[in-house]
Amino acid sequence: MTSDTQFKAWRVEEQDGDYKGSEQTLDIKELPAGDVLIKVSHSSLNYKDALSASGNKGVTRSFPHTPGIDAAGEVIESATGTPAVGSQVIVTGYDLGMNTDGGFGEYIRVPSEWCVSMPAGWNAETAMTYGTAGLTAGLCVQKILTMGAKPEQGKVTVSGASGAVGSIAVELLAKLGFDVVAISGKTDHAQSLKELGATEVVGRDALAEGKKPILKPVFANAVDTVGGTPLAELLKQIQPGGSVSCCGLVAGPQLQTTVLPFILRGVNLLGVDSVEIPLAEKEAIWKKLAGDWKCPKAEASAKRIGRVELDAALKAFLKSESAGKIVLDHAV
Ligand code: NDP
Repeated sequence: MTSDTQFKAWRVEEQDGDYKGSEQTLDIKELPAGDVLIKVSHSSLNYKDALSASGNKGVTRSFPHTPGIDAAGEVIESATGTPAVGSQVIVTGYDLGMNTDGGFGEYIRVPSEWCVSMPAGWNAETAMTYGTAGLTAGLCVQKILTMGAKPEQGKVTVSGASGAVGSIAVELLAKLGFDVVAISGKTDHAQSLKELGATEVVGRDALAEGKKPILKPVFANAVDTVGGTPLAELLKQIQPGGSVSCCGLVAGPQLQTTVLPFILRGVNLLGVDSVEIPLAEKEAIWKKLAGDWKCPKAEASAKRIGRVELDAALKAFLKSESAGKIVLDHAV
């Protein structure tokens, strides 16, 4: 049992239809039911946290609420003994940070089935330099590999390349030997995307809305993190038999396409969910990211912030101004 009874959390409250986050002191007794009490040393920031913190009811139904869909730290209490008290764990997705108080608090209490053991050689901070974004990038890459994507087939592209998922996908694909074309709306990030391993960086115009139902197939495979019109345009430019992993919706949830890429070129559109998949699937990707799929450049470039900087950082996500990974360190 922890000797602490109170802890700090960045909590969002509703005030006359407006949503405001601030640091508050909570009692551990106020945490929801669960088998495992975790002292969270690090969390990381995701687009979904920005939606939760701004009152998006599709993400968080009721307030006050502590966001943070990612958390890593030490097990303090464990009703089932698994994970063991004193062990380090990672928790991402399921209901964490949505309607269950999340990693922006120094403690969380969750079901044991949500906890992944920390991969060998990693600590909580390293795990959170990847967070849900790294897990999702890994799942996106794994999906196209499972469909047979190979470097010799031609260029692979990543949309939303400067974002958290995109930047890890760029580095991972380059590490696996792919010729990576990064698609980014941030001209000032071209150099950093090249440093991550992109051989070419092109503007979002490459996926601007057009009237033609099918285009020259310039990409063998793709990881799409933005959805909407750019994804529809991307599908028109995939080579026969190529695959596109789709995980995001920053450019919109609607996908207006024809069947032509699918029936003329046999293109595969592969959905990626990092939230509700079985724990074993998450564990397998975490092990790869801590091993052969390690992305040292993304790790090194992750920005570390304290709770006091959360408000500004989350607002930047909503304005598409965020780039790379941001780690929340509760000790800062
Ligand atoms: P970020 O905000 O870090 O990155 C998104 C990037 O998309 C931006 O940096 C920008 O990159 C680009 N972008 C933003 N707005 C637009 C727009 N209107 N049109 C085209 N491109 C745009 O988010 P994440 O990388 O963390 O997440 C990306 C998406 O994946 C989000 O929608 C998120 O909700 C989703 N997601 C899904 C998961 C799942 O399990 N399916 C898990 C994690 C995330 P640039 O300027 O380089 O173009």
